[in-house]
Amino acid sequence: MPELASPGRRSVSEPLAEWAVQNIRLEGRPFRFEGHEYLRAIYDDVSPHVVLSKAAQIGGTVWAILRSLHACLSGLNVLYYFPTRTDVIDFSKSRVTPLLNDNPFLSKLMTDTDTAGLKRIGDAHLYLRGMLSSVGLKSVPGDLLVFDELDEAPPAAKAMAKERLAHSDYRRMIELSNPSLPDYGIDEQYEKSDQRHWTIRCPACGQWTAPVKAFPTRLGEEVRIIRARTDGSHYLACPKCGGGTGCRPGGVGT
Ligand SMILES: [Zn+2]
Repeated sequence: MPELASPGRRSVSEPLAEWAVQNIRLEGRPFRFEGHEYLRAIYDDVSPHVVLSKAAQIGGTVWAILRSLHACLSGLNVLYYFPTRTDVIDFSKSRVTPLLNDNPFLSKLMTDTDTAGLKRIGDAHLYLRGMLSSVGLKSVPGDLLVFDELDEAPPAAKAMAKERLAHSDYRRMIELSNPSLPDYGIDEQYEKSDQRHWTIRCPACGQWTAPVKAFPTRLGEEVRIIRARTDGSHYLACPKCGGGTGCRPGGVGT
Protein backbone atom coordinates (compact mmCIF):
# COMPACT_ATOMS: atom_id res chain seq x y z
CA MET A 1 0.00 0.00 0.00
CA PRO A 2 2.54 2.59 -1.05
CA GLU A 3 -0.07 5.37 -1.29
CA LEU A 4 -1.25 4.94 2.27
CA ALA A 5 2.32 4.81 3.44
CA SER A 6 3.41 8.10 1.91
CA PRO A 7 4.20 10.57 4.71
CA GLY A 8 2.18 13.43 3.27
CA ARG A 9 -0.91 11.28 2.90
CA ARG A 10 -0.59 9.76 6.35
CA SER A 11 -0.27 13.00 8.22
CA VAL A 12 -3.27 14.42 6.37
CA SER A 13 -5.42 11.34 6.93
CA GLU A 14 -4.71 10.88 10.63
CA PRO A 15 -6.33 13.71 12.60
CA LEU A 16 -3.94 15.21 15.12
CA ALA A 17 -6.61 15.89 17.76
CA GLU A 18 -7.63 12.25 18.01
CA TRP A 19 -4.02 11.08 17.94
CA ALA A 20 -3.16 13.42 20.83
CA VAL A 21 -6.18 12.31 22.89
CA GLN A 22 -5.40 8.63 22.27
CA ASN A 23 -1.65 8.74 22.82
CA ILE A 24 -0.32 11.79 24.59
CA ARG A 25 0.19 12.56 28.25
CA LEU A 26 0.87 16.14 29.25
CA GLU A 27 2.17 17.17 32.65
CA GLY A 28 1.43 13.69 33.96
CA ARG A 29 -2.18 13.57 32.75
CA PRO A 30 -3.88 12.29 29.59
CA PHE A 31 -4.15 15.00 26.93
CA ARG A 32 -7.67 16.47 26.80
CA PHE A 33 -9.42 19.39 25.07
CA GLU A 34 -11.80 20.10 27.96
CA GLY A 35 -11.37 23.75 28.88
CA HIS A 36 -9.42 24.32 25.65
CA GLU A 37 -12.15 23.70 23.10
CA TYR A 38 -10.77 26.45 20.89
CA LEU A 39 -7.72 24.27 20.18
CA ARG A 40 -9.48 21.32 18.59
CA ALA A 41 -10.06 22.87 15.16
CA ILE A 42 -6.48 24.14 15.14
CA TYR A 43 -5.21 20.62 15.85
CA ASP A 44 -7.18 19.20 12.96
CA ASP A 45 -6.41 21.97 10.47
CA VAL A 46 -4.43 20.39 7.64
CA SER A 47 -4.00 23.59 5.60
CA PRO A 48 -0.54 23.87 4.04
CA HIS A 49 0.05 27.16 5.87
CA VAL A 50 -1.37 27.80 9.33
CA VAL A 51 -0.98 31.13 11.13
CA LEU A 52 -1.77 31.37 14.84
CA SER A 53 -1.96 34.85 16.34
CA LYS A 54 -2.27 34.05 20.01
CA ALA A 55 -2.07 35.08 23.61
CA ALA A 56 0.54 33.54 25.88
CA GLN A 57 -0.36 30.38 27.81
CA ILE A 58 -3.15 29.14 25.54
CA GLY A 59 -1.51 25.93 24.36
CA GLY A 60 -0.13 27.15 21.02
CA THR A 61 3.38 25.85 21.47
CA VAL A 62 2.16 22.46 22.69
CA TRP A 63 0.09 22.19 19.51
CA ALA A 64 3.08 23.12 17.37
CA ILE A 65 5.40 20.62 19.04
CA LEU A 66 2.82 17.81 18.92
CA ARG A 67 2.16 18.55 15.26
CA SER A 68 5.92 18.41 14.69
CA LEU A 69 6.38 15.09 16.50
CA HIS A 70 3.35 13.65 14.70
CA ALA A 71 4.88 14.69 11.37
CA CYS A 72 8.21 13.10 12.33
CA LEU A 73 6.40 9.84 13.15
CA SER A 74 5.11 9.92 9.56
CA GLY A 75 8.69 10.17 8.31
CA LEU A 76 8.67 13.93 7.65
CA ASN A 77 11.58 16.19 8.60
CA VAL A 78 10.65 19.18 10.72
CA LEU A 79 12.54 22.43 11.22
CA TYR A 80 11.31 24.20 14.32
CA TYR A 81 12.58 27.77 14.56
CA PHE A 82 12.84 30.08 17.50
CA PRO A 83 14.32 33.58 17.41
CA THR A 84 17.56 32.68 19.21
CA ARG A 85 19.72 29.71 20.11
CA THR A 86 18.99 30.43 23.79
CA ASP A 87 15.26 30.10 23.08
CA VAL A 88 15.95 26.72 21.47
CA ILE A 89 17.83 25.43 24.51
CA ASP A 90 15.11 26.71 26.88
CA PHE A 91 12.40 25.14 24.72
CA SER A 92 14.20 21.83 24.51
CA LYS A 93 14.67 21.65 28.27
CA SER A 94 11.35 23.07 29.42
CA ARG A 95 8.98 21.63 26.80
CA VAL A 96 10.43 18.82 24.74
CA THR A 97 12.24 16.87 27.47
CA PRO A 98 9.25 16.80 29.87
CA LEU A 99 6.96 15.81 26.99
CA LEU A 100 9.25 12.91 26.11
CA ASN A 101 9.48 11.87 29.76
CA ASP A 102 5.68 11.79 29.91
CA ASN A 103 5.44 9.76 26.70
CA PRO A 104 7.77 6.75 26.64
CA PHE A 105 6.41 5.62 23.26
CA LEU A 106 8.00 8.76 21.80
CA SER A 107 11.24 8.66 23.73
CA LYS A 108 11.72 5.00 22.75
CA LEU A 109 11.67 6.01 19.08
CA MET A 110 14.11 8.79 19.66
CA THR A 111 17.86 8.96 19.42
CA ASP A 112 20.19 11.96 19.89
CA THR A 113 17.98 13.17 22.68
CA ASP A 114 20.95 14.69 24.45
CA THR A 115 21.38 17.24 21.71
CA ALA A 116 19.22 20.31 22.31
CA GLY A 117 19.01 21.15 18.62
CA LEU A 118 18.40 17.77 17.01
CA LYS A 119 16.09 14.89 17.72
CA ARG A 120 15.99 11.82 15.53
CA ILE A 121 12.59 10.13 15.60
CA GLY A 122 12.49 6.89 13.67
CA ASP A 123 13.78 7.79 10.22
CA ALA A 124 12.92 11.49 10.50
CA HIS A 125 14.55 14.47 12.16
CA LEU A 126 13.30 17.29 14.29
CA TYR A 127 15.71 20.20 14.03
CA LEU A 128 15.36 22.94 16.61
CA ARG A 129 17.02 26.06 15.32
CA GLY A 130 17.61 29.71 16.21
CA MET A 131 16.69 32.15 13.44
CA LEU A 132 19.27 34.71 14.48
CA SER A 133 22.11 32.30 13.88
CA SER A 134 23.18 31.92 10.25
CA VAL A 135 24.29 28.36 11.04
CA GLY A 136 20.76 27.68 12.22
CA LEU A 137 19.27 28.56 8.86
CA LYS A 138 21.61 26.76 6.52
CA SER A 139 22.08 23.29 5.22
CA VAL A 140 19.16 21.06 6.24
CA PRO A 141 16.07 20.39 4.13
CA GLY A 142 12.66 20.15 5.77
CA ASP A 143 9.07 19.11 5.03
CA LEU A 144 7.42 21.14 7.78
CA LEU A 145 8.66 24.50 9.05
CA VAL A 146 7.50 25.96 12.34
CA PHE A 147 8.20 29.57 13.27
CA ASP A 148 7.54 30.05 16.97
CA GLU A 149 7.64 33.53 18.54
CA LEU A 150 7.74 34.84 14.99
CA ASP A 151 7.51 38.51 15.94
CA GLU A 152 10.80 38.32 17.84
CA ALA A 153 12.73 37.27 14.74
CA PRO A 154 13.82 39.45 11.79
CA PRO A 155 11.63 39.01 8.67
CA ALA A 156 14.67 38.36 6.46
CA ALA A 157 15.55 35.29 8.52
CA LYS A 158 12.14 33.79 7.85
CA ALA A 159 12.54 34.29 4.11
CA MET A 160 15.87 32.47 4.24
CA ALA A 161 14.47 29.63 6.34
CA LYS A 162 11.57 29.12 3.90
CA GLU A 163 14.06 28.02 1.25
CA ARG A 164 14.51 24.82 3.30
CA LEU A 165 11.14 23.62 1.94
CA ALA A 166 12.22 23.85 -1.69
CA HIS A 167 12.86 20.13 -2.15
CA SER A 168 9.87 18.80 -0.22
CA ASP A 169 6.69 17.37 -1.76
CA TYR A 170 4.88 17.98 1.51
CA ARG A 171 5.74 21.67 2.14
CA ARG A 172 3.85 22.74 5.21
CA MET A 173 4.40 25.87 7.28
CA ILE A 174 3.19 26.92 10.71
CA GLU A 175 3.68 30.39 12.14
CA LEU A 176 2.72 31.29 15.68
CA SER A 177 3.37 34.28 17.87
CA ASN A 178 1.95 36.76 20.27
CA PRO A 179 1.17 39.73 18.04
CA SER A 180 3.44 42.76 18.53
CA LEU A 181 2.67 45.52 16.00
CA PRO A 182 -0.25 45.83 13.56
CA ASP A 183 0.65 44.70 10.02
CA TYR A 184 3.89 43.19 11.21
CA GLY A 185 4.95 39.58 11.68
CA ILE A 186 2.11 37.33 12.80
CA ASP A 187 -0.53 40.04 12.37
CA GLU A 188 0.55 40.64 8.79
CA GLN A 189 0.29 36.90 8.09
CA TYR A 190 -3.06 36.56 9.85
CA GLU A 191 -4.49 39.46 7.82
CA LYS A 192 -3.50 37.60 4.64
CA SER A 193 -5.16 34.39 5.85
CA ASP A 194 -8.83 33.36 5.88
CA GLN A 195 -8.88 34.72 9.48
CA ARG A 196 -10.63 31.92 11.30
CA HIS A 197 -11.51 32.55 14.89
CA TRP A 198 -13.19 30.45 17.53
CA THR A 199 -16.97 30.89 17.58
CA ILE A 200 -19.37 29.35 20.06
CA ARG A 201 -23.17 29.12 20.23
CA CYS A 202 -25.04 30.10 23.38
CA PRO A 203 -27.06 27.07 24.55
CA ALA A 204 -29.70 29.41 26.05
CA CYS A 205 -30.47 31.94 23.28
CA GLY A 206 -28.67 30.54 20.24
CA GLN A 207 -26.48 33.61 19.72
CA TRP A 208 -23.12 32.93 18.03
CA THR A 209 -20.16 34.71 19.57
CA ALA A 210 -16.47 34.89 18.76
CA PRO A 211 -14.99 35.60 22.21
CA VAL A 212 -11.88 37.24 20.80
CA LYS A 213 -14.02 39.74 18.89
CA ALA A 214 -16.36 40.42 21.80
CA PHE A 215 -13.71 41.97 24.01
CA PRO A 216 -13.86 45.74 24.52
CA THR A 217 -11.60 47.74 22.24
CA ARG A 218 -11.99 51.07 24.09
CA LEU A 219 -11.05 52.04 27.60
CA GLY A 220 -14.03 52.02 29.97
CA GLU A 221 -16.19 49.80 27.77
CA GLU A 222 -18.06 47.10 29.70
CA VAL A 223 -16.64 43.56 29.57
CA ARG A 224 -19.72 41.50 28.72
CA ILE A 225 -18.01 38.30 27.68
CA ILE A 226 -16.50 37.33 31.07
CA ARG A 227 -18.74 37.45 34.11
CA ALA A 228 -18.34 36.57 37.77
CA ARG A 229 -20.20 33.84 39.58
CA THR A 230 -21.28 34.34 43.19
CA ASP A 231 -18.48 31.99 44.33
CA GLY A 232 -15.88 34.37 42.86
CA SER A 233 -15.04 32.22 39.83
CA HIS A 234 -15.63 33.50 36.30
CA TYR A 235 -17.28 32.16 33.20
CA LEU A 236 -17.36 32.89 29.50
CA ALA A 237 -20.74 34.54 29.03
CA CYS A 238 -23.04 35.12 26.10
CA PRO A 239 -22.93 38.91 25.44
CA LYS A 240 -26.60 38.85 24.43
CA CYS A 241 -28.30 37.02 27.32
CA GLY A 242 -25.49 36.69 29.88
CA GLY A 243 -25.87 32.92 30.04
CA GLY A 244 -22.92 30.60 30.34
CA THR A 245 -21.55 29.19 27.10
CA GLY A 246 -20.36 26.02 28.78
CA CYS A 247 -16.75 26.97 28.16
CA ARG A 248 -14.27 28.14 30.73
CA PRO A 249 -12.32 31.25 29.78
CA GLY A 250 -8.64 30.73 28.90
CA GLY A 251 -5.99 29.90 31.44
CA VAL A 252 -3.93 26.78 30.90
CA GLY A 253 -0.40 26.03 31.85
CA THR A 254 0.99 25.58 28.39
ZN1 LIG B 1 -27.26 33.77 25.02
